[in-house]
Amino acid sequence: MTVRTRADLGALPSYVPGRSVPGAVKLASNEVSAGPLPSVVRAIADAATAVNRYPDTAATDLVARLGDRLGVPTDQLAVGCGSVTLCQQLVQATCTEADEVVFPWRSFEAYPIITAVVGAGQTRVPLTAGHGLDLDAMAGAVTDRTRLVFVCNPNNPTGTALTAAELERFVDRVPTDVLVVVDEAYKEFVDDPDVPDGVEFAKAQWAAGRDNVAVLRTFSKAYGLAGLRVGYAAASPAVAEALRKVYVPFSVNALAQVAAVASLDAEDELMARCRAVVAERGRVRAELLAAGFEVPVSQANFVWLPLGERTAAFNEHCLAHKVVVRAFAGDGARVTVGEVGENEAFLAAARSFTG
Ligand SMILES: *Cc1c(COP(=O)(O)O)cnc(C)c1O
Repeated sequence: MTVRTRADLGALPSYVPGRSVPGAVKLASNEVSAGPLPSVVRAIADAATAVNRYPDTAATDLVARLGDRLGVPTDQLAVGCGSVTLCQQLVQATCTEADEVVFPWRSFEAYPIITAVVGAGQTRVPLTAGHGLDLDAMAGAVTDRTRLVFVCNPNNPTGTALTAAELERFVDRVPTDVLVVVDEAYKEFVDDPDVPDGVEFAKAQWAAGRDNVAVLRTFSKAYGLAGLRVGYAAASPAVAEALRKVYVPFSVNALAQVAAVASLDAEDELMARCRAVVAERGRVRAELLAAGFEVPVSQANFVWLPLGERTAAFNEHCLAHKVVVRAFAGDGARVTVGEVGENEAFLAAARSFTG
């Protein structure tokens, strides 16, 4: 007899990771192209001698450092095995089958998967014509059953960002018993002063008695630790406590914890790298516009090409030029901004696309 799995398993979508093609330039997963800093590698190597022991499940050192760095009490912080796992923990902590999650679409591919895995309902709210989050429609999509709303800022994969005023107005419209999760995976690449720092925004909301705002950040993107899996949430004490309740014990491993602390020690160097990516982002977008592509203004470490039905052909064309982008068939292509040479390889491919 075959094992009986849950009836809806076949219908669950699978997460499609960015492809790695040997010898090709990989601009498909929004990683930073530069390798880890020597100081971070040393910290990981030192910690490797103690991996016979379980990690500190409370990630005490990392949480203390984050608390100081952000000005947030440690009981309002929770770490996770990548912020994607924190997304899942938040849905697990707020929803069962009777409940719903609202999120923009297109947005982070993991939202629909996680929601379906937990078994909650989902409402996908289409983006605006300008490829940004439609906050009015999102607020309008909240029902009695809604327990959580994901607000991806900047949005993956379109790169668009919300201003503080827009976010404020949205939070004012959402009932205070519905959790608003501001996913800031790309925060360190934001250079528009009108785009809020989510943690500062959340602190102001908490101070005003609104406990329903939480912020997610990750060490995977700007801090260059995608392979180690660590992210964190800043939330009200009750939400942070709920996150710890559904935490799979020891899931943030010991190497990830020391690497995250070492990365905070080296933050100046890492942020300088981010500024270089931001400069390249402006150049890449300008070159694409000059070549006739539509490219929304991006506040993240990638650009979005809304190519619609031409997306699959564009993807094949880039692959033929040994550049791996992230294609969402029928919709568009997301291209990570890498180092100058990588971006040049992509731009050469893009300029020669005639599809
Ligand atoms: C990459 C990404 C994450 C999560 O990254 P982790 O590696 O799991 O920390 C979360 N949200 C968005 C929008 C992302 O693009």
